[in-house]
Amino acid sequence: MKNWTEILMHLGEDRTAYYGAVTPPLIQSSNFAFPTVQSFREAFEDEAAQHLYSRGNNPTTLILRKKIAALEGSEDAMVLGSGAAAIATAVMANIKAGDHVICVNKPYSWTQKLIGTFLPRFGVKHSFVDATDIQQIEAAIRPNTKVLMLESPNSLTYEIQDLAACAALAKKHQLTTIIDNSYASPYYQNPIDFGIDIVVHSGSKYLSGHSDIIFGAICSTKAMIGKIISTEYMTLGPVLSPNDAWLALRGLRTLRTRLEQSSLSAQKVISWLKQQEEVDYVLYPLDPNFDQYELASQQMRGAGGLFSVNFKERPIEKMEAFSNALADAFLMAVSWGGYESLQIPSCVFYRMASKEPPPVPATFVRYYVGLESAEFLISKFKQAWHHLL
Ligand SMILES: *Cc1c(COP(=O)(O)O)cnc(C)c1O
Repeated sequence: MKNWTEILMHLGEDRTAYYGAVTPPLIQSSNFAFPTVQSFREAFEDEAAQHLYSRGNNPTTLILRKKIAALEGSEDAMVLGSGAAAIATAVMANIKAGDHVICVNKPYSWTQKLIGTFLPRFGVKHSFVDATDIQQIEAAIRPNTKVLMLESPNSLTYEIQDLAACAALAKKHQLTTIIDNSYASPYYQNPIDFGIDIVVHSGSKYLSGHSDIIFGAICSTKAMIGKIISTEYMTLGPVLSPNDAWLALRGLRTLRTRLEQSSLSAQKVISWLKQQEEVDYVLYPLDPNFDQYELASQQMRGAGGLFSVNFKERPIEKMEAFSNALADAFLMAVSWGGYESLQIPSCVFYRMASKEPPPVPATFVRYYVGLESAEFLISKFKQAWHHLL
């Protein structure tokens, strides 16, 4: 059992090094100076571990890396300028021209773009599979398959993968497993415990938690993180600025408190919604009616504030009016994991000239419950409800 409080509050911090300051300093410096040629030489010889230049190492950023590694239970972690950078960097570090990647169906949109559109330019092939079924993953494995890209749960319909089974299959075929763990966060799921090789996060969501920065993380062995830093990371340069690392540290302090509160309120809102006649179904991995509830409860300790609702069939105008009426309480915005409640009504993607409709109906809405009280949010639903009728 992890000591969450110790990790979030103290781990990686050396207060004696900065006047006993309770909060670590923001070392907003691009480069670091050395008093002698010999010490400068030593820093060059061990650039991954020394503070030489902030594209590589920075003391404020290093505290964040240590905390995130401890939260995931990985040997090491690195932080990057976005979750998308974390995903792309982790995947690219494990493939070369001629290789093949297997990815879950319906991953995060920019993961889809990376594997489906970007990597083919460099001769990397792919298969998207229904990974709720381990046999479909196995059937897609080719002699040149190198990476199995998972996302469990995804952040719209929450399909999950059997992580232990995926890890065992990958070992048998010498594939590197990568999982996007942004939905559960390290507080509710630690894929490394199930044998997954690399965990990636969009820290823009729960980890930073205040909708104020874009940030990503990769967690793995020391060898893997070292390899990624010295190759993809240093050449592509997807750096997290020390200022944003400092904000991430501040947000991270309350990870546990925020998640528990969001999670509790989301469950209250969900149980109210489930009683309403106008609701067709609710999707939440730890709802007993969820298709993969048993597997979810074996792998996850909780499920946070993000869930989806499908309302019974009705004209798109009603969905629009209802969503508009809710927009002062559930802000109409992408992302999630901050302090404020949000909604993405899928009717927004219908009647769009430039986009195909999503794989869900216009009556489907993704909600995120932030730190408002459940009673307040339910009262807002009640006020807006007549628009549905
Ligand atoms: C937001 C998100 C990402 C991308 O992260 P950014 O920090 O926005 O680059 C990746 N995966 C999932 C599941 C996300 O929700």
